[in-house]
Amino acid sequence: MAGFFVGKEVKMKNYDKYRHERNKERQWNKEQNAGGFRCAHCRQWVVVNEFIGTLNRNHCNLCLWSKHVDEKKGDRRAFCQAGMQPIGLTFKREGYGKQGEIMLIHRCSGCGKVSINRIAGDDFTEGIIGVFEYSKDLSNTLKQRLAGEDIYVLVENDKQELFNQLFGKLY
Ligand SMILES: [Zn+2]
Ligand SMILES: [Zn+2]
Repeated sequence: MAGFFVGKEVKMKNYDKYRHERNKERQWNKEQNAGGFRCAHCRQWVVVNEFIGTLNRNHCNLCLWSKHVDEKKGDRRAFCQAGMQPIGLTFKREGYGKQGEIMLIHRCSGCGKVSINRIAGDDFTEGIIGVFEYSKDLSNTLKQRLAGEDIYVLVENDKQELFNQLFGKLY
């Protein structure tokens, strides 16, 4: 008798999980079709639009938070969907002597995954500088982890180049 109830409970749990995943997938599809997404962090509507060149944007242009959605081909999409916090800046790796563009380092608040993302033309400049300032106080553990993943976090010495890129060389 007891076995019957346990089995039923497990089934219900699996079903709830399935339904939860399906809802997240539906929500994601709905947002893609609507031409944007609701920022999970600041609740602003973020436009994703090929005409203004933000088709590949994956983060909010105001608070710069992103959402954890993996879209690797061949892989099932990871619908973690937790907010990804912008924790620092880095430069894109380029060839010899060439300074790469500014990239945002995001860290998932749900599963801890770290990813590097291009900034978009309409990203809030003060926000980018805010992330730069914030990254100075990252814990040593996190700094070591990023270094281990070969991610260089911009430091005070990079500020001039950062400002050059954000405001132009005349700054
Ligand atoms: Zn936002
Ligand atoms: Zn995640």
